[in-house]
Amino acid sequence: MHAYDAEVAVVGLGAWGTAALWQLAERGVDCVGLERYGIAHALGASHGGSRMFRTTCLEHPGLVPLARRSLELWQVLQEAAGTRLFVPGGGLLIGPPSGPVAGGTLRAAERHGIAVQRLTPGELADRFPAHTGLDPHDIAVWEPQAGLVRPEATARAAADCAVRAGARVLTGSTVTGLVPEPGGVRVATATGSLYVRRVVVSAGPWLQTLVPGLPLETVRMPLTWYAPDARARRRFTLERFPVFMRELPSGAVLWGCGSEGGHPVKLGLEYAGEGFRTVEPEDTDRSVARTDWESLSRLLARYAPGLPPVPERAAVGRFGRTPDGQFVLGPLPAEPRIIVAGGCNAHGGKHALGVGEALAELATTGRTTVPLEFTAPARFTGR
Ligand SMILES: Cc1cc2nc3c(=O)[nH]c(=O)nc-3n(C[C@H](O)[C@H](O)[C@H](O)COP(=O)(O)OP(=O)(O)OC[C@H]3O[C@@H](n4cnc5c(N)ncnc54)[C@H](O)[C@@H]3O)c2cc1C
Repeated sequence: MHAYDAEVAVVGLGAWGTAALWQLAERGVDCVGLERYGIAHALGASHGGSRMFRTTCLEHPGLVPLARRSLELWQVLQEAAGTRLFVPGGGLLIGPPSGPVAGGTLRAAERHGIAVQRLTPGELADRFPAHTGLDPHDIAVWEPQAGLVRPEATARAAADCAVRAGARVLTGSTVTGLVPEPGGVRVATATGSLYVRRVVVSAGPWLQTLVPGLPLETVRMPLTWYAPDARARRRFTLERFPVFMRELPSGAVLWGCGSEGGHPVKLGLEYAGEGFRTVEPEDTDRSVARTDWESLSRLLARYAPGLPPVPERAAVGRFGRTPDGQFVLGPLPAEPRIIVAGGCNAHGGKHALGVGEALAELATTGRTTVPLEFTAPARFTGR
C-alpha cells in the first residue's frame, strides 16, 4: 500500500472546483487542486465578469435550497477575501406565463414561498424602460433577491482562501487520466502522478474527456457587450436594466444586465443563433465571428432600443450540457472514489459555492446537507 499524496484531489479549478477546494481545506482535509490553465481563465465556463443569481430556480425545485445556501456562503467568502463578489439589486424574468422563464419563476416562487412581484406593463415601462416590445401575452416578474455574482473573482477568492487554509494548488497541470487502484485513485498528469484517496472531477465542459460514459455535450455560447448611445445611457445602468432573462416568442432566451463596474451592457442569446452550438471539448478555437452576435443584434431595435447594432466586445464561453438539463454531481456508481461535478447547463454559476460545499461533503462524509439526489450520476449510468 502506497502513502497518499493527498486525501482528496480536485481536478479542474473553475468556479465549482475552487469552491470545492476551499470547502475541503476549511474542513482540515489534506487536499490538492490541479488545473490545466490558471485560476479564472477565459477558456471554460467561469469568465465574463458576471453571472445572474436568482433563488427562484426555475430549472428544478431542488435547486432553491442550493441557491439559498450559496448566497450564505458568498457572504462568508466575501468577508474572508475582503472583496465584493455578490452584487444585489434584483432581477427581471419576462415571457409568457405558461413558459419556463416568467411562468417557471412564478411556480418556483409559489412552491418555495419566495417573494416576487408581478409587474404590470405600465410598471415595467416606468421602472425598467429599456425593456420594450412586450408581446400581448408576456408578463414581467420582479425577484428582489436576485443579483449578480462575479465568477472570476469568486474563483480567485476561493482558491486564495483554500491555500490559506492549507490546500495546494497546481496550475498548468493537465490531468491525463484517473486510474482506480486499491484504496485510492491515481491521478495521472503529463509529468507524473498523485495517489489520493478520493478525486473530485470538476472539469466543467471537459468533464467527459476524463470520465467517459456520461451523456455530456460541450456547448459553445457567445457573450457580448454593447455600449449604449449617449441618450440611452441612463436607461441601461444596472439599476434600470438589472439582471434579466426574457423568453422570446421563438423560444430563444435573451439574457443580460446593465452597465456596471466599468463594463458596458452585457447580453447573450440562449438556444439561438449560429454561435450557440455543440463543439468538441478539446476544440481550442475561441475566436469570435460575426455570426456570434448578428442574430442578437437584430433583436435590439425591438427589445432594447438604444444599443448599437455592433457590440463593443464579444467572447466565447462553453458549458457542459446533460439531456435533462440538470447537473451531474456525485460519486460514480462503478467507482465511488471518483466524484464528478459537471453538466452545469449554463445555470450553475449561482450555485458554485453550494456545489463546492456539497462536493466537500461527498468527499468526506458521503452525504450532502442540501438534498441533491436528482443530480446523481446514477440516473445516467445505472446503479
Ligand atoms: C456564457 C455562459 C453564461 C452563463 N451564465 C450563467 C448565469 O447567468 N447564471 C448562472 O448561474 N450560471 C451561468 N453559467 C454557468 C456558470 O458560469 C458555470 O456553471 C460555473 O462558472 C461553473 O463552471 P465550472 O467550474 O463547472 O467549469 P469551468 O469554469 O470551465 O471549470 C472547469 C475547469 O477544469 C479545468 N480542466 C478541464 N480539464 C482539465 C484537465 N484534464 N486537467 C486539469 N484541469 C482541467 C479547466 O481548465 C477549467 O478551469 C453560464 C455559463 C456560460 C458559459
